[in-house]
Amino acid sequence: MAGKLSRRQLLFLMGAASMGGLTYLLADDIEEAVSEKKTEAIENGLVPLIYSPHYNFTAFGIEKLHPFDSTKYAKIHKELTKSGLRSDSDFLRPNSITGEQLRLVHSERYLKSLTDSFELAKIFEVAPTMFVPAILLDWRILKPMRIAAGGTLLTMRKALKHGLAINVGGGYHHACENSGGGFCAYSDIPIASKVLQNEGLVKTVMIVDTDAHQGNGFATEAKKSGSGLFMLDFYDETIYPHPKVEEDWSVPFPRNTSGTVYLSTLEETLPVAIDKVKPDLIVCNAGSDVLESDPLSTFMLASTDMNKRDLFVVECARGKNVPVAMVLAGGYGRESGIAHAHSIKAILNKFDDKT
Ligand SMILES: [Zn+2]
Repeated sequence: MAGKLSRRQLLFLMGAASMGGLTYLLADDIEEAVSEKKTEAIENGLVPLIYSPHYNFTAFGIEKLHPFDSTKYAKIHKELTKSGLRSDSDFLRPNSITGEQLRLVHSERYLKSLTDSFELAKIFEVAPTMFVPAILLDWRILKPMRIAAGGTLLTMRKALKHGLAINVGGGYHHACENSGGGFCAYSDIPIASKVLQNEGLVKTVMIVDTDAHQGNGFATEAKKSGSGLFMLDFYDETIYPHPKVEEDWSVPFPRNTSGTVYLSTLEETLPVAIDKVKPDLIVCNAGSDVLESDPLSTFMLASTDMNKRDLFVVECARGKNVPVAMVLAGGYGRESGIAHAHSIKAILNKFDDKT
């Protein structure tokens, strides 16, 4: 996740804010996160899908100043229901991650910094947000992220129980104990891992990060002694973040890497890594910014390549009898949502009735 702001966009937002648009923001409230609920779909052996309408966020047009499509989760949900593979009631609705759970990874100092609009503007990479009261940013952007982080926890929990589960959101891999960035405020996979480790459900969680950017936040958490995390990261070495951080297993790709090279490298590396690490759970951070159409990476993958990537990760994990959870991470092109939907459909077609 990453992006830049033009002078024109900056002027637009400042003008709009001066017209009292922030009042409109207050009127467009979102409901409290709904509680988790059991569904017949899972009882019938279908792959658990975790989603809340609250993952999507709108904040007075501010969100349009970043290339991230803040409502793509709804588009994926719509595509999946349109396909007939799921009805709306089949999706599990997560609770928000709690403050206590956030503190398992994040420092008090960092969490306090999230009440400062200037600090949030840096994380969101949208400079005008520094002029918006932090309480509004919390309500419109951080709260949806906390619900999606709760979705990551629920997804990992369901993967342990059913072998496979998918969160239609989450994947904030640039966030760690003391910092956020690249539109990532909460280090969701390390947080959820700590929760499950504390419950004695897992010892070693392997993160397979296939987002185009290096997952510097997750990697930083994984490198800590006794973290119980192992980071295997496939990324474009020419893009954000700079500099790169040290990782357990980095697979950097050069500029303009093709789908063929990407997939062959993944297919050579992942089985070896799983055999070496022997994780209790794999979590795939499956960004769609590897697509050729994505404005923020130089990868040249077609949508079909990305679908093969996601299916391969799941097949490889399940073939080795390791539970696997998938979260969606970044993706900034027009194809992002539909590519994710196609990946999920391919996984459901193969694994429904086998969980
Ligand atoms: Zn990314």
